[in-house]
Amino acid sequence: MDLALSAEQQMIVEMVRQFVRTEIVPLEEHLDPDADELPPKDYHRLMAQTKSMGLYGLDTPPEYGGPAIDLVTRSLIAIECSQHRAGLYAPCYYVFGGARQAQLFEATESQKTKYLYPMLQGEKKVFFGLSEPSGGSDPARAIQTRAVRDGDDWVLNGSKLWISGADRADYGLIFARTGPDKGRAGVTCFIVETAWPGFNVRRIVHTLRSAKYATEIQLEDLRVPHENILGTIGGGFAIANDRLSRQRIPYAAECLGVAVKAHEMAVAYAKIRETFGAPLASRQGIQWMLVDNEIDIRTARWLILDAAAKADRGEPFRTESAMAKLVSAEASGRVVDRAMQIHGGLGVAKDLPLERWYREIRIRRIGEGPSEVQRHVIARDILGASLR
Ligand SMILES: Cc1cc2nc3c(=O)[nH]c(=O)nc-3n(C[C@H](O)[C@H](O)[C@H](O)COP(=O)(O)OP(=O)(O)OC[C@H]3O[C@@H](n4cnc5c(N)ncnc54)[C@H](O)[C@@H]3O)c2cc1C
Repeated sequence: MDLALSAEQQMIVEMVRQFVRTEIVPLEEHLDPDADELPPKDYHRLMAQTKSMGLYGLDTPPEYGGPAIDLVTRSLIAIECSQHRAGLYAPCYYVFGGARQAQLFEATESQKTKYLYPMLQGEKKVFFGLSEPSGGSDPARAIQTRAVRDGDDWVLNGSKLWISGADRADYGLIFARTGPDKGRAGVTCFIVETAWPGFNVRRIVHTLRSAKYATEIQLEDLRVPHENILGTIGGGFAIANDRLSRQRIPYAAECLGVAVKAHEMAVAYAKIRETFGAPLASRQGIQWMLVDNEIDIRTARWLILDAAAKADRGEPFRTESAMAKLVSAEASGRVVDRAMQIHGGLGVAKDLPLERWYREIRIRRIGEGPSEVQRHVIARDILGASLR
């Protein structure tokens, strides 16, 4: 695969890099080191800027007024966007209108008017509700939330766990069991408004992530109009699966961005910090850590761009996206860890972003499918689809 960037890609990467360095990084200096939101006035100001740069709503098709940027370029943008303290919580990527629910492009016209267009304008926030207390690795079998038809409505009961941002969202996608099939064919996707009676955010689930963003949701006799089914009855799992395979690539790219920045910091620090009368960079023990960082970064970058290029060409990319996510989350975690070690005490201090990245990148080995599940996907490809 040719990893050379086109002139346009280079220009976009440079624009986003400058945007992060001049707009996001200085803004963060005035925020709490664990801040999980940009101040609303800055968020809206920066969103107006990405719109004027022609880079808002990255994957939005032209018929909806978007730039329809390909996945390779979106991955490059995600690598740049995460290079700041809150980079793994992705407020910068949100400012570019990333990480939204692309499935809504498949919605009916009335669903689009009510839900898609306000989301594209950044007026409404949306969550993705798949995982449950009964399990997230194998949701097709684990989903216990039930939806039962009652006249023109469906009545939903059950709970969802780990759902990012449901407490701040206006609506979301809820996957519930509608049929007797205990696997994929029994799952349907509903568009659910958070203000409706029966929708409750039971609690914020505190994790080692700085952002208090994971929630547990309780659905109690929640009435959802039939017209709010997204796609077809029993077609929900296909919607979830497509989203997960695509989303894993920018997710992997965000991990890589943090690794790139951590490595850059480690190289700079190793050159100026002296111990025993010589710079750290002169010691083989430090050099080898930097070499391993470089190899981890290049490997992850290659796999991410390979997966994205296959997806852009319309080729199968499920295995490649699993590899990219697996390798980038694990390799980037190692890079941040080595960068901390090279910085000594400073590495664990909140003066630098490394300690926040170290905590948050650990989650990336679990979120969007744990490493073991990615290996499971890849093994299925090697050994044949009959492997359960
Ligand atoms: C901070 C955070 C935010 C999240 N946001 C969302 C969200 O917005 N929406 C949403 O729907 N979900 C979300 N998730 C859920 C996430 O996708 C799940 O946590 C993940 O899929 C794992 O599910 P589980 O936690 O139930 O672990 P389980 O499914 O119980 O698995 C436990 C462990 O078993 C191992 N394992 C599983 N399968 C295999 C296998 N085949 N072979 C070997 N080992 C295996 C893995 O190590 C795994 O970590 C979020 C999670 C976190 C932590």
